[in-house]
This record gives sequence, structure tokens and C-alpha cells, in this order.
Amino acid sequence: MRRACGIVVLTVCLLPAGLAAQPASAPAAGQVFVIRARALIDGASARPIPDPEIVVAGRRIAAVYRRDGRPLPTGATVIDLGSATVLPGLIDCHTHIFLQGEVPAAGGYDVQLLKYPLSYRVARAVVAARQALEQGFTTIRDVETEGAGYGDVGIKQAIEEGYIPGPRMFVVTRSISTTGGYPLEGYAPEIVVPKGAQLVDGPVEARKAAREQLDHGADWIKVYMTHRSWIGAHGELVSQPTLTVEELRAIVDETHGWQRKVACHAYNGIGLQRALDGGCDSIEHGLELSDAQIAQMLRQGTWYVPTLAVYYYDPEPADTPAGQRDRKRVELHGVSFGKALRAGVKIAFGTDAGGFVWTDPIAQEFAREVEFGMTPMQAIQSATSRAAELLGRSGELGVVAPGAYADLIAVAGDPLASVTALKDVDFVMKDGVTFKAPPVAAGR
Ligand SMILES: [Zn+2]
Repeated sequence: MRRACGIVVLTVCLLPAGLAAQPASAPAAGQVFVIRARALIDGASARPIPDPEIVVAGRRIAAVYRRDGRPLPTGATVIDLGSATVLPGLIDCHTHIFLQGEVPAAGGYDVQLLKYPLSYRVARAVVAARQALEQGFTTIRDVETEGAGYGDVGIKQAIEEGYIPGPRMFVVTRSISTTGGYPLEGYAPEIVVPKGAQLVDGPVEARKAAREQLDHGADWIKVYMTHRSWIGAHGELVSQPTLTVEELRAIVDETHGWQRKVACHAYNGIGLQRALDGGCDSIEHGLELSDAQIAQMLRQGTWYVPTLAVYYYDPEPADTPAGQRDRKRVELHGVSFGKALRAGVKIAFGTDAGGFVWTDPIAQEFAREVEFGMTPMQAIQSATSRAAELLGRSGELGVVAPGAYADLIAVAGDPLASVTALKDVDFVMKDGVTFKAPPVAAGR
């Protein structure tokens, strides 16, 4: 580090060295950073900006321009990221911090609800939130707590107040399904077991559940419109529908009245059709989309959050009904994604992280998006400006531009040459505070 003309210069080399992660806190009063790098992918523009300088004042970005020798703000600290590429903090629109990639050997899903104290689940969710931030995801839409009640609301608050590090969170709390529409299941009917979602039957109960969840802090409402799936008599994927259109309409009407939105888990078929007819704002997963359903999504402006990569995890053996179902899901999903993309459906990045362990790269989803037709830039924008649009925060999140929150990441490689570079995020700033940076090399 050296001081020259009142400017502090930090030269940060992006080497795969031990990375320091500090708790988040508010930026120091009057703190100004100028960030330099080889290139900036700003989340919205079609092309990267070479040799950028990004001026961060407090929590926000003050200026972004191509380096031209102009004088820097007095007292500014320069963070020189060398040959790195800077991007906006990434946004994952479909996560579960209260899941930890439950594998059958570790007891699967059921032990989470039956055996673990809530405090244990909260402790692990706190770790998951930090791991998301360490991977460069500065914002998540966390789409249900899986039996952990309103735990997401408290974790979001603790992050916002700086007690624990983590991404900005948009939370849905308990989520909603119907009787017969969510685990735990398979127990003797005489035994009452907890359920991973709030189960409702009828429009009155549906609206009441939405009201309760909104009252207790839900930013979005999450609804399960399909549940079990299997291979039908003609080799087709069949999914059990859950809520009726009338039930969903009650939820959507209530939620829209609160100026909030509804995300619908929907695989295909009847349940997905009911999701669209009921006015759902985002289709989650959407394994099989018919041409008519794609046309309806375009008409209604429905978002698609596909979560491709998670379906490649641990398929059941190929010669079992469950194994055939798992393979059918994957086969249909990529085709649906390609069709929706070509038709112009609005697509936002989501992964179902938590459905796989948080130490796995969340950014593995980018390669699947590219495999099924996106350009690397489209894939990046699905997790930046497009995701921000889904969240109703365009211009503030998912973009490196004046006025936006100073949520920035950097990678050593060129993510436009290979999106796998996004798996190795070396620098993370959230809200103008550097959360993760390689060791600082002295002098320059
Ligand atoms: Zn999910």
C-alpha cells in the first residue's frame, strides 16, 4: 500500500491464495473507493468495458467510466484488481438456506423436521448464507424454509443489521401447498407429522395463509402447484397438481394487493397450466413447457426460473421407475429452456442451492444455461440485470452503474470465454464493504 496525492492504492492480485472473509458491516462514513480492473461486465450492456474505473461512495456506486487519467476523488482508496474481470454481485432467484443438500445417507429430508432442533437448522442456514456470499451471490431470493417457519425473516434481518455476513435476502417464509401436496409423508395416518410447507384447502384457507405469511415478513409468496411426478402409461412425465385455479387466484389477488409477487413451483401439465391461469408471476423449474404455455407466459409477462443443474444430481438407478422419471425430467428440461429462450420468455437465474450442498459451486448453473442456448452474456445477465428485474429492483441491483448498490465481484478469468470462470470468485464487495479479497500485495 502506498499513499500518493492523498490517494491510497491497494494492489490486489487475484491469486488462488487463502481468502479472507470478514463479517459485513456498514461502510465507513465518507469512504470512497475507486476500483480498477482489466474489464467490467456491467450486467446490462452488450459488451464489456475495458480498463474501467468504478467509483464507490458509501453503499452506492457513484461513477463508472473507462479509465482516462481523470483525477480521482480526494482521499479515495484505489482497489486495483489487475487483470480481473469485475461484474455486479450475482443474484440467485431460487435458493433454500434451510436445506443442506440432504442425502439419504444423512437421513434425507425428514430428519430435518423430525430430529433437528430449530436452533441447529438456523445455525446451518447462517453458514449457508455466508457461503452464498463467498461465492459472489450478493442477493438471493430464498424460496421457503422447509419446516423452519419464519426463520428466513430473522436471518435476513440479522444480515441487514450487520450481525452476520450474507446476501441481501428476499424471503417467502413457509410457502403454500395443499393436503397431499408436500412432505413429510409416508407415515402411518394415525401419526401427525410436521409438514415442510403450510397446507391449505379452499380459497379461504389459501388467502388466509398468504395473509399470515405476508404479515410475518414474506417478500414473495411461494406456492407449490405440482408435487409428485412419475412416468405415465405412454412414457410421458406426469405431475400431480395441487392447488386449484381458484385457490391460487385467492393467493395471487391477496399478494398483489400487498404489491408483492407469487412464485410457483410447477413442473408441467395440469399444475403448470393452473399456475399460469391463476396469474402466477414466476414459474419455478418448468420442466416441460408446451408451445401454448410459452405463448401464455409471453402474453402475461411470466418469468421462468428454470434451475437446470440441480436435476443432474444423484439420479436414481436407470432401471427403476424413479430413475426413468429422473432421466425424463432432464431430457424435457433443456428442450423447454431452449424453446422458452428462443421465444423470448423472461428468464432469471435460479439454482435450488440447498437442494445441493452449499460448498458446491452455485455458478455451475451458468454452464447449463449456455449448454441449452444462452450466450455467456445472456447467462450472466440472467443472474444480474434480469434477476433484478424479476425482483423489481432494476437499476439498484444486478448492474454496475451510478446509483446502484455497490455490490461487486471479480473473477480472474474471462467469463465471456468460459462461464465456468464464475465458479471462482476472488473478490466480493456488498453494500460498499469488501467482504472477500485475496491478500493485499504491498506497494506497486
Ligand atoms: Zn426449490
